[in-house]
Amino acid sequence: MHFKQLRRWPLIAAFALVIGISLATTTVLANNTTLTVRASMLNVRLGPGLAYTAMGQVARGTQLTILKEENAWYQVRLAGNKIGWVASWLVDQNEATTSSARVATTKSRLNVRQTAGTTAAILGTLDAGAKVNILYQENGWTEITYQNTAAWVATSGLMLTGQTVTLAAPTQTYLKKATPAKTSTLTVTTTIATNVRSAAGINAPVTTQVAKGATLTVLNQENDWYQVKTSTGQTGYVASWTVTTPGDKAAKSATSLAEATILLDPGHGGVDSGALSTGGKYEKTYTLAAAKAIGAALTAQGANVEYTRDSDKFVDLAPRAAASNTLHADAFISLHFDSTPDPNTASGFTTYYYDPTTSKSLATAVNTALGNALTLTNRKTAYANYEVLRDNRQPSILMEMGYINSDKDFKLISSAAYQQQMATAVVQGLQAYFKAGNHQ
Ligand SMILES: [Zn+2]
Repeated sequence: MHFKQLRRWPLIAAFALVIGISLATTTVLANNTTLTVRASMLNVRLGPGLAYTAMGQVARGTQLTILKEENAWYQVRLAGNKIGWVASWLVDQNEATTSSARVATTKSRLNVRQTAGTTAAILGTLDAGAKVNILYQENGWTEITYQNTAAWVATSGLMLTGQTVTLAAPTQTYLKKATPAKTSTLTVTTTIATNVRSAAGINAPVTTQVAKGATLTVLNQENDWYQVKTSTGQTGYVASWTVTTPGDKAAKSATSLAEATILLDPGHGGVDSGALSTGGKYEKTYTLAAAKAIGAALTAQGANVEYTRDSDKFVDLAPRAAASNTLHADAFISLHFDSTPDPNTASGFTTYYYDPTTSKSLATAVNTALGNALTLTNRKTAYANYEVLRDNRQPSILMEMGYINSDKDFKLISSAAYQQQMATAVVQGLQAYFKAGNHQ
């Protein structure tokens, strides 16, 4: 089974890259790359990851200037010359391709700083007479290109040469990484001395061993195994439980839906058709339709949505839960439709959870929103020992969204309107859940 767990990029790839020409003013020069905030509210954090404290929020439509990109996070400049980090998958990029920059020389030896200000970290120094390309100026500070990133020097230390240079776009390497790329550069770190094997599985021959703390480049992922490349260039497979990902280190936990990774799990698929309607229609068809409707609604809110299956194919139960664990999903939502031995004997929807500590609050939040939105009987939340929940370490629920062999329920289940209502309610439920902050 192959999941798209490592790919945040397709989401970004869907964005249109709008070519904008920024008109030069006396201080604002070409080569600013601006972002437009896409999420309704976007947290700006102190560092590139969800573990960093939020220093503020910006509203949808706000324009931010990218300074650099790191691990799918953008460092941006905010109003008041503050610097913060935003998740790249939550913003549109508006890339200016104009590429002329004014050239200046340094009057004397000059400190190059990470941000504007005399207290900012010093990245290096420029000798007297060094040439720099000016990206932006404000409040006595000049942003320049420096070692493939953007950095700042005091404007008073510069002398304009009157020249401009043309920089091919995208000029800076920090922008190259912002271009949607299918290849992930995820690395993992071994937590113990780890066997590298010739195939994914504990019975595969060991080809080499790497020490605890080694950094491995991830080439691919197969269920609970990473195909990796070692620092010496050897490739092989390591078990995911012997390594940590950057997400683990960050103790990832979204504080809003826009930052969350939601794994949708359409029940059944392929040879497993699930339950049948009285007219012989398959449950698997409607779980997938519901997942797609919900996924679209979540994506529109800026969430990173993944699926355990996005077509009519068979996926076993164990890999579904494993996908949630490896992905560190902020919420795992399994979609099903109930049935009874005799048709037309039950009706309504139920939201199940297994682990009350990780998942009951999620079940309650989503069930409440569904109850408010749907006309179908709310059978409330309940504990259930389902494998996709039991083997799931992430907040996880299973929604039985009506009885497929109830003609009354099936009329709804098979309608686009009901799927849409369900999608809207799941969005609202998750928003309430993340807002309440009672998630893990
Ligand atoms: Zn089912």
